[in-house]
Amino acid sequence: MNNIALARAFFEIADLMELNGENPFRANAYRRAGRAIEMLPEDVEEIFERGEIRKVPGIGAALAEKVGEWLSTNEIQYLEELRQQVPPGVVEMTKIAGVGPKLARRFYAELGITTIDELEKACRKRKIRTLRGMGARTEWNIIRGIQALRERGNQIPLGVALPVAREIQAHLELLPQVKQVDLAGDLRRRREMLDKLDLVVTGIDPEEILSLLPGLAEVEEIIAKNADSIRLRLKSGPELEIVAAAPESYWWTLWKATGSSEHVAQVLALAEERGLAVVGKKGLEPTASLVEVLGEAELYQLLGLPFIPPEIREGEGELTAARQGLLPQLVELSDIRGDLHCHSRWSDGVMTLEELAQAAAAKGYEYVAVCDHSQSLTVANGLSVERLRAQHRDIQEVNEKLDNIQLLSGIEVDILTDGSLDLPDSILAERDVVVASIHSGFRQDVEQLTMRVMKAMENPHVDIIGHPTGRLLGRRDPYAIDMERVIEMAAKTGTALEINASPDRLDLNDVNAQAAKEAGVKIVINTDAHSQPELDNMHLGLSVARRAWLTKDNVVNTWSLKEVKEYLSRK
Ligand SMILES: [Zn+2]
Ligand SMILES: [Zn+2]
Repeated sequence: MNNIALARAFFEIADLMELNGENPFRANAYRRAGRAIEMLPEDVEEIFERGEIRKVPGIGAALAEKVGEWLSTNEIQYLEELRQQVPPGVVEMTKIAGVGPKLARRFYAELGITTIDELEKACRKRKIRTLRGMGARTEWNIIRGIQALRERGNQIPLGVALPVAREIQAHLELLPQVKQVDLAGDLRRRREMLDKLDLVVTGIDPEEILSLLPGLAEVEEIIAKNADSIRLRLKSGPELEIVAAAPESYWWTLWKATGSSEHVAQVLALAEERGLAVVGKKGLEPTASLVEVLGEAELYQLLGLPFIPPEIREGEGELTAARQGLLPQLVELSDIRGDLHCHSRWSDGVMTLEELAQAAAAKGYEYVAVCDHSQSLTVANGLSVERLRAQHRDIQEVNEKLDNIQLLSGIEVDILTDGSLDLPDSILAERDVVVASIHSGFRQDVEQLTMRVMKAMENPHVDIIGHPTGRLLGRRDPYAIDMERVIEMAAKTGTALEINASPDRLDLNDVNAQAAKEAGVKIVINTDAHSQPELDNMHLGLSVARRAWLTKDNVVNTWSLKEVKEYLSRK
């Protein structure tokens, strides 16, 4: 599939255009087209060859031409020109939290700053405050942003890594000589941020792999190479490590490459305790009589353990729990029966209510809640009391028309800076689902932010706290909030906490979700979808839930409509 690589080229064009001071509407056109291409269910080349490229939303004559150019030459001349015009260091600057293309462009145009190091120096020499509209606080924030960026290093969020890795996997799987390919390492354990993409393959050796990678995985440099593995840096940024295994030792190699190293060490120690020895590449064998182990499940079985899912192989008590028969039955994607936080055209989403309901029905859901924004979020076309009432009628009409899905009337109400809610109680009482979220005042101190959320939970109509820490993965740290107190109050008031499955958020994270479970707090996994493809992000939230050891019982939207309605009305 060419889609991800082409989408990336369009995103880069959009970013560079903005950095070059060009019309932001034109830049956004590339971004929209990039998103549409990314979501295509088939290879863009096939669509192009059928002559149907103009049918893809957002692709007009000019962009269709660029698609054609890219498909035939693997390049876009316009992109090459833009790359010449904007120094790479200026592009880098946009990775700093709070520095968008607009600011990076001003630093470059007005102060001649071309790298992050120069920007840091300029902040420390108090030069930024000489620019119109900027002050000491801007400088301080930029320095903090640069420090955070350096701490993150080259890590990539799960939601970015997973589709890329799966595309490489799918490409290798089609090669006739390849018998098996699997994701391994942090990726298979679904950690939220990754240092590299890990794959294990059998049927080819590392030397061959290099020439067989798909176009998407353009290699920037080879970091390391030996007889069994190769480690590369891709042009698109992430590192990729592929381990080649012989067919007879495939599962063993995969198991070890999945890790974590703590889990592997603990399992091997247990094996030794049980009188089993590690034999070369073949895995475990009893020292006395030879027994061949054929896979991961058998390995655990041989040790008297149930299968331990990759997501919890962290060496943090899973072995003890398994030995005591206390390993939880982790929630599965097929357990999910609805989505309780989605947006429609009534605020900043792109689906009509009926489209949302149909899309959820197509996923086999029993219910879906439309939770559009409330009035104070004007940038997102938030709903006033009057528009909410009109929307309510619209919801009823959809429900009368469709009998395979229940559209619940929800609201994502803003928690204002003083902790009050953006809509009166009488209005909240009319809704089936109330998600309360913070979208402003992120810079308040821990006391203020914690108080805001606690106060919201005390409201008898608030069912769920949306994206509780406000973080944006790799871009914005969680705001200062005392999750211990929030979880305590959630337990006391019977308020559910959200795992927001948006690839940018994954908020709550695994650690907080597990703490919530232990305190008896219910969790809801929501996609916060603003468009139909985003409904598919549920699996990312599910990864977090599984890493947090959650079961079906812990997750509200695995329950039937009747149970969910009871739950929502009992506070
Ligand atoms: Zn929100
Ligand atoms: Zn939302």
